[in-house]
Amino acid sequence: MDKILLGSHVSMSGPDYYLGSVKEALSYGENVFMFYTGAPQNNKRTPLENCKIKEGIELAQKGGIILDKIVCHAPYMINLGNSDPDKFKFSKDFLKSEILRCEGFGCNLLVLHPGLHVHMGEEIGINNIIRGLNEVFNDLKELNVTICLETMAGKGTELGITFEQIKKIIDGIDEKYQNNLGVCLDTCHINDAGYIVDDIDEVLNRFDDIIGLKLLKVIHLNDSKNPLGAHKDRHENIGFGEIGFDSLIKYVYDSRLVDIPKILETPYIENKPPYKEEIEMIKKKEFNPSLKDIIASK
Ligand code: FE
Ligand code: FE
Ligand code: ZN
Repeated sequence: MDKILLGSHVSMSGPDYYLGSVKEALSYGENVFMFYTGAPQNNKRTPLENCKIKEGIELAQKGGIILDKIVCHAPYMINLGNSDPDKFKFSKDFLKSEILRCEGFGCNLLVLHPGLHVHMGEEIGINNIIRGLNEVFNDLKELNVTICLETMAGKGTELGITFEQIKKIIDGIDEKYQNNLGVCLDTCHINDAGYIVDDIDEVLNRFDDIIGLKLLKVIHLNDSKNPLGAHKDRHENIGFGEIGFDSLIKYVYDSRLVDIPKILETPYIENKPPYKEEIEMIKKKEFNPSLKDIIASK
């Protein structure tokens, strides 16, 4: 692929649902995007047949969106790390239905927060996640979807905050489902977890040594409001945070990452989406310190 795969989180809500998501992405000049199949905070879902999926895919094709690089994000309510049997079962069932929904949208990549250990400790939490994922895969059998475990900031009792923890989870998954696993690297999260984003060679070499670069499927491109190792997870617009513009765009243009969709999850500015302007700025490869003012005054 010669052009950079660059997009953002977009909404997926009525009346246009998926068609609306595609329209939104195209309006920002994107060739990939990420969506939730419904509100991330609850499990109410619009039936697939009402989501204007076919219309969305048709428009995406016409608009030059790379269909097999579109990303879906699983809801935050899913926590496979929880030892509580009811919550664990709820998370498994919800993940299963979201995987099938993701397939219904024709989407191959589903980003999942690995989970929280809710004060049971890392080892118990990771074992729960492994058991949960294996059971989900066993129940669903043949799947086109790749579950991309997201690298986390280390807020609260989050798991998946080091490449080693992600690798531990992957190693626990049955051989026959290994092809359904990938990783989403979030630049804000790894900064907050203590990785120096600017040193892309060190980040990618470590990733390759521990997990394997071929498992990297998605990049969340975000600046961070907080310094290295802060364990906070507060996203900032590109170039306005502690990571900085020059460090972040290395991940957009690195030859090792050409096939990987880069998705912005940066905050709105005075209720206005920043993505069109941020993408233009990234394509120009030059930081614009007045970008926030420009967006705010639109
Ligand atoms: Fe996420
Ligand atoms: Fe993210
Ligand atoms: Zn985040």
